[in-house]
Amino acid sequence: MNIVEISAEFAPIIKVGGLADVVHGLSMELVKRGQDVTVILPFFPWIKKKIPHVRNTKKTIVTCEKNQWHNNSIWEVIQDQVHLIFIEDHHPDRYFSRENIYGYQDDIARFLYFSKVAMDFLLNEKKTIDVLHLHDWHTAICPILYKDILQSHNMTVKKIAFTVHNFQHQGKCSQQNLRNIGLDAKKYLNKELLQDESSDDLELLNLLKGAIVYSDVVTTVSKSYAQEVVQKEGAFGLEKVVKDNKGKLFGIVNGLDYEEWNPEKDTHLKGHFSPRNTEKELHEAKLVNKQNLQSELGLAPDSMKPMFISIGRLVWQKGPELIKEAISYIINSGGQFVLCGSSPEKDTQKKFDELKKMYNSNKNIHFHFDYNEPLARKMFAGADFIIIPSKFEPCGLTQLIAMRYATIPIVRKTGGLADTVFDVDDKNVPEKARNGYVFEKDDASELFESLKRAFNDFKNNKTKHIAYKNLELDHSWTEPAKEYLALFALKN
Ligand code: ADP
Repeated sequence: MNIVEISAEFAPIIKVGGLADVVHGLSMELVKRGQDVTVILPFFPWIKKKIPHVRNTKKTIVTCEKNQWHNNSIWEVIQDQVHLIFIEDHHPDRYFSRENIYGYQDDIARFLYFSKVAMDFLLNEKKTIDVLHLHDWHTAICPILYKDILQSHNMTVKKIAFTVHNFQHQGKCSQQNLRNIGLDAKKYLNKELLQDESSDDLELLNLLKGAIVYSDVVTTVSKSYAQEVVQKEGAFGLEKVVKDNKGKLFGIVNGLDYEEWNPEKDTHLKGHFSPRNTEKELHEAKLVNKQNLQSELGLAPDSMKPMFISIGRLVWQKGPELIKEAISYIINSGGQFVLCGSSPEKDTQKKFDELKKMYNSNKNIHFHFDYNEPLARKMFAGADFIIIPSKFEPCGLTQLIAMRYATIPIVRKTGGLADTVFDVDDKNVPEKARNGYVFEKDDASELFESLKRAFNDFKNNKTKHIAYKNLELDHSWTEPAKEYLALFALKN
């Protein structure tokens, strides 16, 4: 099949979170299974540094926005047989000549523009596309551009699949935003199409809603999350359109790229291991990693203390309040704690800055308020436990990476966390599948109860075997890619 992915992120080149890992990992697996995969991405100025062999094709795509024509250069590179296409805009607002991927007040205009150029590029290529696979609100206008405009210009896409990685971010916009890219905005201000139904502003449009209505297949990133988004809290106001389109909604849990996340070969680690090691060998290697992490971060060199970590964006979704509660519990109970992540929410970041100050002289805790993949890898490998107390979690990748690196997850039972982590004490689950600590309520007392059990099991030497057993679990892309291919092959 000729599969085209359009995405804002692709690991490790353009990455903010799990979206990047997923588009990268899925593309690799699809190629391995004989598919022809092209991924279209925005070109940022720093791309050339990250992939020096990226090539300017000298092709130019001319796109109209606000009645002005703009040139866009097309760059390309083949990475592990995946064809990457980058769109470099020469728009006067320099939409993608920026440091960050998101976070600008014109994000809507930037990604509508990117999507339009991507579709104009595909139109220009004149190739039949078997599957156009789109991701999140950033590319949500593409199905609309195809079905309402480009299809009648002899462009052929046999199937449009849309994956929602997070229902919280929907791309709410004005009619003017659509007019700017040449769409008849009035037509879309209709309950059956793009009109936003969750706010009092009846003039508002919702791009994610449009993608759900217009795509042939809609997927989200775990089975539990696919059920949660039929409810008001889960869908952030899109529950009606999700229900109306339930027949084409499927939950496919994310996989993990087992080449990219491989503790046997990870060059950032001092101690390497794989499921072929014995339990004793695994724990010798884990200990080397723990000691290395402690020494790099200036933590007390005490391997008898359980090491807890948190890696991720410090946003409301990830339960920052519970992370704070967990920190004080862990430190008061004699554990160590390392956090890697920062918050785009000023108030939240301020609270964590204060916490860092409070623990300034404590040798059992370290905060790193930045994105740092080498550090994250050392943390995954050196820790005993990772805490993920999310309010909601469409899939979550950090629990999967942690298990691959023999670190035990402590999670709230929601979305993909509920689908991939099963409590070590849950007698309703086969012993083989019990791989972590799970609490249900978004509440500190349940979290503390899980932490207490984790501390006890660590002290009684029970956690070593759980971590070892988890190495055998398969969270690779093998099964999820099969599910995607089955959906891609379904008749519309
Ligand atoms: P989300 O997509 O909601 O951010 P996921 O758990 O699905 O959360 O994926 C997060 C990805 O980003 C993982 O690969 C994780 O290791 C990585 N990540 C998040 N924050 C950081 C950070 N501060 N430094 C390094 N990697 C990070």
